[in-house]
Amino acid sequence: MVQLTLPKNSKIGQGRKIDAANGANGARTFKIYRYDPETGDNPRWDYFTIDLTKCGPMVLDALLYIKNEIDPTLTMRRSCREGICGSCAMNIDGTNTLACTKPIEDVRGEVRIAPLPHMPVLKDLAADLDHIYAQYGSIEPWLKAGSPPPSRERLQSPEDADALNGHDGHGPAACILCFCCSTGCPSYWWNGDRFLGPSILLQAYRWLIDSRDEAAGERLDALEDPFKLYRCHTIMNCTNTCPKGLNPAESIAEIKKMIAERG
Ligand code: SF4
Ligand code: SF4
Repeated sequence: MVQLTLPKNSKIGQGRKIDAANGANGARTFKIYRYDPETGDNPRWDYFTIDLTKCGPMVLDALLYIKNEIDPTLTMRRSCREGICGSCAMNIDGTNTLACTKPIEDVRGEVRIAPLPHMPVLKDLAADLDHIYAQYGSIEPWLKAGSPPPSRERLQSPEDADALNGHDGHGPAACILCFCCSTGCPSYWWNGDRFLGPSILLQAYRWLIDSRDEAAGERLDALEDPFKLYRCHTIMNCTNTCPKGLNPAESIAEIKKMIAERG
């Protein structure tokens, strides 16, 4: 379990307690991190008690119920509600995960919800992802091939496609860029300005093993750096927290091996 470390603007006060459950048997309380930089106020915890029969079974359902019925200022990202877009990544009950695939019934007692740890907060549950997306851009996540393009698409054998997708669908191409892993990585917390972190390194690995890509040498040159790659100390939080069941720690180890083997 990734322990909750509060976002970067913390001294959190107690906020409002709103009971909207009307004494219902199935009432649950959601303790939600609130922060609005435009007010100049410190962050706070708000408590919303709701009747769970009024919303769907996932944490995102409860958040949307609170936003739609009680407090429209509650801010979060969400889109697909199917565990595919990665938008609703947040820290729930001490673990980074996707609100749309996290059943409320998996949490005992009060449901504590905070933004992804150790990131600047834009508002409430929305972390600032500008830096991590810039890091994503820095690995040039697109196919690089100097050879003349074929008349149709660049083909790949089923075996080569399996390397990307994984036999069980858990290969690096299944990453949804939710950043649960990077924001659960202690090394990324302390060195995130220069360490690329597990999500971006897993993406780098995805291009390194793509049989259609012809830039492995230059990609490895760019990664061979004491901070970008070697701040990973194999703590494994990343793999433990990935809501898609991927293994970024293994991808990082494979990149290190590729660099060691090319001498
Ligand atoms: S294995 Fe590496 S990248 Fe993953 S949590 Fe540990 S230090 Fe971070
Ligand atoms: S490896 Fe997993 S946790 Fe990390 S960004 Fe990709 S899907 Fe999210």
